[in-house]
Amino acid sequence: MARSTAGVRTWLFLLSLLTSVPLVLFAGFVTYRLTESERAATLTNLVQRTDAAANAVQQHIQGWSTVLMALGQTDEALGGNLQGMYEHAVRMRTLAPDAASITLLDRTGAQLFNTLRPFGADLPPSAQPDMAARVLETGETQLSDVFRGAVTDLMTISVGMPVLREGVPAYSLHMNVPVKVLNAVLDAQNLPEGWYAAVVNRQGTVLSRNRAPETVVGRKATAAFREILARSQRGVVDLPSEDGTPLKRAFVKMPPWDVTVMIGVPETIYWAPFRQSMALVGAGGVALVTLGLLLAAWFSGRLARDVAGVSAAAAALGRGEAPRPAVTGIRQIDDLGRALLDAHALLRSHDAARDAEHRAAVDARLQAEEASLSKSKFLAAASHDLRQPLQSLMLFASVLRTHIQGARALHAMTHLERGLDALKELLDSLLDVSRLDAGTIEPALEDFSAGTLVDTVGAAYKGIAEAKGLALEVRLCDAVVRSDRTLLARMLRNLVENAVRYTEAGTVRIACQAEGGRLRILVTDTGIGIPSEHLSRIWEEFHQVANSERDRNQGLGLGLAIVRRLSRLLDHPVEVRSEAGKGSEFSIAVPLGSIAAEPVGTEDPYTVPRPGPHRFAVVVDDDTMVLLGLTAILESWGYTVVTATSAEAAVERLAGSGERPDIILSDYRLPHGSGTQTILRIRDLCGVAIPGILLTGETGPEVAREAAANGLHLVHKPVTPRQLAEVLSGESGTRD
Ligand code: ADP
Repeated sequence: MARSTAGVRTWLFLLSLLTSVPLVLFAGFVTYRLTESERAATLTNLVQRTDAAANAVQQHIQGWSTVLMALGQTDEALGGNLQGMYEHAVRMRTLAPDAASITLLDRTGAQLFNTLRPFGADLPPSAQPDMAARVLETGETQLSDVFRGAVTDLMTISVGMPVLREGVPAYSLHMNVPVKVLNAVLDAQNLPEGWYAAVVNRQGTVLSRNRAPETVVGRKATAAFREILARSQRGVVDLPSEDGTPLKRAFVKMPPWDVTVMIGVPETIYWAPFRQSMALVGAGGVALVTLGLLLAAWFSGRLARDVAGVSAAAAALGRGEAPRPAVTGIRQIDDLGRALLDAHALLRSHDAARDAEHRAAVDARLQAEEASLSKSKFLAAASHDLRQPLQSLMLFASVLRTHIQGARALHAMTHLERGLDALKELLDSLLDVSRLDAGTIEPALEDFSAGTLVDTVGAAYKGIAEAKGLALEVRLCDAVVRSDRTLLARMLRNLVENAVRYTEAGTVRIACQAEGGRLRILVTDTGIGIPSEHLSRIWEEFHQVANSERDRNQGLGLGLAIVRRLSRLLDHPVEVRSEAGKGSEFSIAVPLGSIAAEPVGTEDPYTVPRPGPHRFAVVVDDDTMVLLGLTAILESWGYTVVTATSAEAAVERLAGSGERPDIILSDYRLPHGSGTQTILRIRDLCGVAIPGILLTGETGPEVAREAAANGLHLVHKPVTPRQLAEVLSGESGTRD
């Protein structure tokens, strides 16, 4: 699965967000908890202050009623002595300095005395006539609503208490206190800036308020608050003030007068710390995240540049150039840069070593090629130079045989001929090897019957095998193969020859096996086998397992070398399986062919050309020995022979004789011009295409091509009388 990729900038942005966002959230959470407890403390403070203020108000009212009680208990009061009571009242008012006056009212609400006036002075009716009636009715102390004092003209409240005469409430004694006294009480609470405080009586009238009292004092509190007061003694509620400011209010209702003290904190103040902290955290968080992102952007830019730098260095390394990583100050990237430099140094040293190895290999190959070339040149030269004398030796030996008599002489002659045959065989094999090495042999591929080829080779060795007491078995091969008929036969001959040579008893078998588009031709024997350590080396030139004395009769050590070369040339893999003492199996894998095989014509038997009338041969060779040898053998076959050591001499002699030769034999390499030219000149002279045979010691492909182009036979020296006879019979056959 392909992994999606993201730039370093994205990763760093993510990293910065992953670290800063939780931090900001945590800070927010902690701040929230802190402001929460701050608010809780504020709330507690609010409630405590409300209690304290309520106590203070309670104490004041209590104080006023205590003065009244004391006044009501005096003898003058109890005795109905109103003047005495008045004088007491004037004195006792000083005990309640915040009170405006003490008045005595009768049941109708008329003022009987007022400490603000002399006793007996005319007094207006009380501003609170109902109050006196209620006091006398209930016989209990009462707190009035707010009223405007009839004498003082101040916003006032009063505490009224019945004065008993003979156990019956007869008058109502009042302490009148300006409401601003309660305001002062509230002020004395030293409430924090912005806080509200108010006193509300049982009727829900606002008796006092610390802020803008003139707007609310004497009026009813809000309906919502009054409703709450009707239900509860104390509590904390969220309720707007009379002027509409949202407040968190704490209130306490104090018996016996049910005066409620309320303290409220405007919501804005109550929530302010939380809002401020949260705003701070929010702004700080945004700043932190922004800073993180900016840093990430800056750093990713730098990192991207640095990484691009090493990437470029690596790419340079890939192109084989020297990397130039910049020093970035980031350790890992710098390490990478150094590693690239090291890799470059290592590569260069490897390159240098490889170049040196390559040069050494090229030198070695050149040397080997040179050596191989000089070997080939040497072989070519040696075989050419050896062939000339060998050629004449063989021809003379052949001629000599017809002249010698006596068993001993014939015996010696036989040995001489065997020696010459062996020498020729060696030269032929060397020639084959050098031609194969020089790459001058071009296989002529065709489809043909493997059976015919196998049978022919088998038949050639049957006699030799039987002479050794071996059975030579040729199994039926009915496949068509694609190969070079002559070269494949050569390979198979070499294998069969070895099988027969290295088997003393038992069977030599030639068989075929079709296998994956190929036909394996198997040569199996029950001979001495090959020790495993030699198996890979038998294909080398002159490697023989057990012939240290190099007995010629045990082979030359070139057979398998030729097989290996032919195997490569034809692309026919060869294999060997062998066990010392048990036998060997060699195989050649030949590609299967497709066309039905044509039967191969059997080779002409070696027949000495019949001596016929007027058989006339021209022989041209600059080597007089060869010339003499060829003349001797041709004459023994009944030919009239004209010899020449050059083309000119031959033309000259023929022109003189006026006769037309039946065959021209010419050495290829002549002093002036080649054998081909010689034959062509003689043909020109006679005006007919007389059959020509080129004799050569050369190993190169040029001669073969030249001969083929001019319809000439090419015979490599040393030519045996048998080979010569075959060619001559072929020629006469075509002419007859
Ligand atoms: P040679 O002329 O010696 O046979 P070859 O190149 O044909 O040269 O073979 C090389 C060597 O391989 C032989 O000398 C022989 O030791 C071994 N060899 C080849 N064929 C056989 C075989 N069929 N059985 C046993 N040994 C063999």
